[in-house]
Amino acid sequence: MSNNKYAVNERGYYGQFGGAYIPELLRANVDELRENYLKIINSEQFQKDYKRLLDNYVGRPTPLTKVENLSKRFGTNIYLKREDLTHTGAHKINNTIGQILIAKYMGKTRIIAETGAGQHGVATATVCALFGLECVVYMGALDIERQAPNVARMKMLGAKVVPAISGNQTLKDATNEAIRDWIANPYSFYLIGSVVGPHPYPDMVTRLQSIISKEIREQLTVETGNPNPNYVIACVGGGSNAAGAFYHYLNEENVKLVAVEASGLGVDSGETAATITIGDVGFIHGSKTMLMQDEDGQITEPYSISAGLDYPGVGPLHAHLAETGRAQFLSVTDQEALDAAKVLAQSEGIIPALESAHALAALEKIKFLKEDVVVVNLSGRGDKDMETYMKHFN
Ligand SMILES: *Cc1c(COP(=O)(O)O)cnc(C)c1O
Repeated sequence: MSNNKYAVNERGYYGQFGGAYIPELLRANVDELRENYLKIINSEQFQKDYKRLLDNYVGRPTPLTKVENLSKRFGTNIYLKREDLTHTGAHKINNTIGQILIAKYMGKTRIIAETGAGQHGVATATVCALFGLECVVYMGALDIERQAPNVARMKMLGAKVVPAISGNQTLKDATNEAIRDWIANPYSFYLIGSVVGPHPYPDMVTRLQSIISKEIREQLTVETGNPNPNYVIACVGGGSNAAGAFYHYLNEENVKLVAVEASGLGVDSGETAATITIGDVGFIHGSKTMLMQDEDGQITEPYSISAGLDYPGVGPLHAHLAETGRAQFLSVTDQEALDAAKVLAQSEGIIPALESAHALAALEKIKFLKEDVVVVNLSGRGDKDMETYMKHFN
């Protein structure tokens, strides 16, 4: 996929977005990864090891479930890609299992990660336990307080959770600490959790998540005789589950791609995470992309009821898909997501993650034809969100 307008170019750009805007001290580490990641991913041995882990540890392929009651409700044909049924309950494991394999092939002996809500931290700690590698997870001190169950999981899995005590004590501060560690310890591998960060991370994570659309194509072919649906819908925090669900459809222009951001209390409320709707061009986590910032260019604190969508930027691929119009970007409020979660639970017996509920809520905003085939990527399961659901439904 080199001669297409949605693939990353050699310098790490999607259109005007992407690149690697990093401190000089980090250059050697990022260059080493850039020079090796494609060779490794494309090698027969990696493909064999990765597939074996996906099949026997992660639990792939995940089902593509036709949800009949929801289909009736919206007068069309709706399928859910069931990433909620993976080991650990969300798509993040597709990426962490791939990156830890790459780390192993590169001879790295220690894994560094940063996490906000803790879900990427848990997915990283999980694969480190499996591979017997040392795992250090940086997390804002405030987030450590707010996300106690995930902190407990990481610790039980053997990871060291290090509080970041500078700044707002949230994700940005944890990222700074992780980068400082990587500069000091170049034998470590920095494992990023979404399609963000300097090149080659957005492309590497997209490729590792692209197993989602690879399976959708195969499953739809069996189900309908056509690998292409009319719509693929996914929520976007940093954008990794959406990138994976879109990947094999990027050049199929008749497949409509719908990316759903969290608008929190509303796009004009000041309490939002709808980056594409209200953000503009800037630099975050080492890449040029769309982000939410104030008049002085300071990154603003995002807000969403869903911790996984509570991110002030978006991966450079998504900024490009928005700018070119290849994907349609919608936004969904906290309340709309909560309502959609309840509808899925009570019509299909599936409790979705709050993030995934944002993708489901987009079904209300699109006018479908009776014969349309609509795939919603159900990025994760709702167990982790029960406290929030109970608060709102009682
Ligand atoms: C982390 C997470 C997301 C958001 O991350 P992306 O990189 O945008 O996919 C979405 N859904 C679930 C269940 C998550 O855990």
